[in-house]
Amino acid sequence: MDLGISNKKALVCAASKGLGKAIAMELAQEGAQLFICARDSKALQEAAQELEKLSKQKIGYLACDLSKADDRQNLVSSVNSFFGMPDILVHNVGGPKTSLAKDTNLSDWQEGFDKLFQSVAGLNQAFLPAMIDKKWGRIIIVTSTSVLEPIAGLSISNAIRSAVTAMAKTLSDEVAQFNITINCLAPGMIHTNRTGELLDSRAKTSNLSKEQYMEDYLKSIPMRRLGEPKEFAAAACFLASEKASYITGSTLCIDGGKRRSTY
Ligand code: NAD
Repeated sequence: MDLGISNKKALVCAASKGLGKAIAMELAQEGAQLFICARDSKALQEAAQELEKLSKQKIGYLACDLSKADDRQNLVSSVNSFFGMPDILVHNVGGPKTSLAKDTNLSDWQEGFDKLFQSVAGLNQAFLPAMIDKKWGRIIIVTSTSVLEPIAGLSISNAIRSAVTAMAKTLSDEVAQFNITINCLAPGMIHTNRTGELLDSRAKTSNLSKEQYMEDYLKSIPMRRLGEPKEFAAAACFLASEKASYITGSTLCIDGGKRRSTY
């Protein structure tokens, strides 16, 4: 299937590893021009080199902290001078701190808000006007299934990603008439560095060996396995495509069937 994005420019955030990198690889294979960013400059540079080999084209990149307004401003300028305004914007950022809601202090809520919400709102504000002018755009936001089923110990993710989802839905209503779609992709448990660390720490607190914890955990997933980043990225690539032109304001779960809600 030709996804119709070989002439499109894509900015993929937090793409030095994990889900962001997998999405960038998938978009590169479809021929999109790419700019990537992430916090860790060494891993970012290596990812850009890997993407250049794969796509046979120059990849733009910038190390930045997406929770900081000045860094986002630099990112907008760098993207613009590299290839102009993007047609496809993939929002992604590292996970927030873990904590119980009752123990989360105001400064941790604020930090989570800056990281998860302001990163999305800030970049949308910078890039949406050009998409409206072009009458074409795809915005994809990596969230979590925590927006459908709160996950114990992830209070900041549960609360603020839900706010991001509501913001995305509101915005999608406003820009649909300009052929701009805005959708959220909610990963369940996809096999990346972060999930490895998360599962290790859960095994420790439950006093089970890692193997025992994993065996029990996998029973809660109908597919009986973790997802692969490539499987997650394929859905992102489809939502970024010309083919997904009538899908907007939605959250798509990539979770092997784990969530218990019927939609
Ligand atoms: P990862 O740890 O493998 O990769 C995180 C990426 O984010 C890296 O490129 C890192 O440099 C970048 N990053 C971190 N903080 C940043 C910042 N402030 N500014 C710019 N870049 C930053 O993580 P992952 O598993 O790929 O997860 C990506 C996102 O999806 C996270 O928010 C995570 O909480 C969420 N998520 C992942 C899963 C999963 O199964 N992997 C499940 C639910 C939610």
